[in-house]
Amino acid sequence: MAIQRTFSIIKPDATKRNLTGAVNAVIEKAGLRIVAQKRILMTRAQAETFYAVHAARPFFGELCDFMTSGPVVVQVLEGENAIATYRDVMGATNPANAAEGTIRKLFALSVGENTAHGSDAPETAALEIAQFFAGNEIVG
Ligand code: GDP
Repeated sequence: MAIQRTFSIIKPDATKRNLTGAVNAVIEKAGLRIVAQKRILMTRAQAETFYAVHAARPFFGELCDFMTSGPVVVQVLEGENAIATYRDVMGATNPANAAEGTIRKLFALSVGENTAHGSDAPETAALEIAQFFAGNEIVG
């Protein structure tokens, strides 16, 4: 499997609890490299664009409220099979179903406030990275 890049967000529930470093330690222990990272306050428009695929879901408004409720850390992660690897490292969307040792099992508060985002496919990874990073901000 080739080296891939994936897009990650450390969500507001984690930044509020000062867990950025703790989440990054799990990411790095899994063999992924953080090749771009910045802490931002997402605008409503950015959140709505980012989660447009969920626009018809009943939790869409709540999700956008949450993602703009505090700082997030947006990241590009690089490594072998990075997209699937990071999905495994994050664990299931609902922390109640997440495996031991995963980011969501360790840190998430609920299905909504679940600490991390990771892209689900190469196409979405490319789009998500391009929404938040210029090419020269990513240094592998
Ligand atoms: P992911 O790929 O594991 O992040 O999961 P999804 O793509 O299905 O959902 C995107 C995000 O929407 C999740 O990470 C949660 O933050 C949020 N979400 C999903 N389901 C619910 C829900 O039932 N209620 C709320 N409030 N948020 C949800």
